[in-house]
Amino acid sequence: MRAKNEKYLIVGQGLAGTLLAYFLLKKKQDVMVIDKQLPGASSVAAAGVMNPVTGRRMVKSWRFDELSKFAEQTYREIENLLGGAFWYPKNILRALPTVLEENEWMRRSAFPENKGYFRENTDLGKYTGKVYPTHGWGEITGSARVGMPGLVQLFRRFLIGKKCFFEEVFDFEKISFEDGKVKYGALLFDKIVFCEGARLVSNPYFMYLPLVPTKGELLLVKIPGASFKKMLKNHLYIVPLEDGTYWVGATNHFEFKDAAPSFSDKSYLKNKLGRILKIPFEVIAHKAAIRPTVSDKRPLLGQHPKHGNLFVFNGLGTKGASMGPLFAEQMSAFLLGEKELDKEVDIGRFGH
Ligand SMILES: Cc1cc2nc3c(=O)[nH]c(=O)nc-3n(C[C@H](O)[C@H](O)[C@H](O)COP(=O)(O)OP(=O)(O)OC[C@H]3O[C@@H](n4cnc5c(N)ncnc54)[C@H](O)[C@@H]3O)c2cc1C
Repeated sequence: MRAKNEKYLIVGQGLAGTLLAYFLLKKKQDVMVIDKQLPGASSVAAAGVMNPVTGRRMVKSWRFDELSKFAEQTYREIENLLGGAFWYPKNILRALPTVLEENEWMRRSAFPENKGYFRENTDLGKYTGKVYPTHGWGEITGSARVGMPGLVQLFRRFLIGKKCFFEEVFDFEKISFEDGKVKYGALLFDKIVFCEGARLVSNPYFMYLPLVPTKGELLLVKIPGASFKKMLKNHLYIVPLEDGTYWVGATNHFEFKDAAPSFSDKSYLKNKLGRILKIPFEVIAHKAAIRPTVSDKRPLLGQHPKHGNLFVFNGLGTKGASMGPLFAEQMSAFLLGEKELDKEVDIGRFGH
């Protein structure tokens, strides 16, 4: 059987567009990508933490074993392709501020599905003496950080080198349908896939989907005298970056007026960090971005119910680093007619 060769236009090159382009190119498809780093873009601001055990109830993250295994394999492959480093396995020290939380930690650590994710003897390591005491600490293993901003930037250079990248704002007025294909201006494609992150809410074809943009702000800080290796979670995350600085965040707002960093969140983050660290720090940057979250916390994959050439891959929410690779691969297989989508991520679950 002759392998399929189709022409794709991907709109948006955050993590979703990057990973989808990667898998389609790997499957020898013709791919063009449009992106204009618009305010609020999420992947270039994210910490990229992959945490197997989240929330106050310390619940194992949805499909984490499978997602994380596939994520590591994919990020390693892309590291080899681009010659960069994006995959950093790192434990997370988690504050247990009350007896109740400590008891819950002990209880959960005995669950068979959590095997390999709760370290038996917590080691504060380089944080010793540099953070204020809390009731207790637990140490999460099997976690990692993905260098999302670097990955997106290097992949963009790769696409530019292959002459398949346009830096422009996608204009919906330029879409037309012709002989079973879709045109963007004068260019003809088999399929257009929208990977616009939180901007999906302004997409006339897919705005009916229940995307709930949430704004998050973060600080990049220098901490003289610190050489923290692990990530730390105590209300905020402190995440060591490869250049010796630290990512600190984040806030979470369902209501906001724009994508700009705010004075109030900056003060909040500085105050909180001052209550975690005993040693001084210096803020070197303050950023804001909008997460593409979905009401049921599952990604959005699928085909437009009326326009069969239009597709969406979005809804990575707060967990793009772990969910992105497996669902980008699944989306590419669906586009090529190789696989059905999992029901729980298919946009068909919302009807139309
Ligand atoms: C503060 C913060 C911290 C986070 N921390 C983590 C974390 O630790 N771990 C984790 O897994 N996830 C984290 N996330 C979530 C993560 O960022 C997202 O899951 C993921 O990056 C979403 O990727 P995306 O490609 O769907 O969206 P985006 O990264 O927003 O990409 C969409 C792209 O489309 C472009 N675009 C949109 N519309 C158009 C148009 N009309 N024309 C041209 N270009 C367009 C945008 O400019 C953008 O570049 C965090 C998010 C925030 C805000």
